[in-house]
Amino acid sequence: MSKRSCDQAVERIYFYLDGEITWYRRLRINWHLRSCRMCEGAYDFEHRFRSVVRDKCSEDVPDELLERLRSVLRENDE
Ligand SMILES: [Zn+2]
Repeated sequence: MSKRSCDQAVERIYFYLDGEITWYRRLRINWHLRSCRMCEGAYDFEHRFRSVVRDKCSEDVPDELLERLRSVLRENDE
């Protein structure tokens, strides 16, 4: 699996989770996730991250804060 296709997959994972993606891309992501450990991890992380944020926050969270939380969580994950 090339680095390039991973970059694209990770980018699309965000759209995927936001529901802003076509069924065709969804299919391609699912396929990629099944064959790529790295992106599967990235997807799991983002998925968990979003459900935690949704659980804890009743209001819309600013992108800036999300980005900061994300990097903190990532450091803890490694
Ligand atoms: Zn990948």
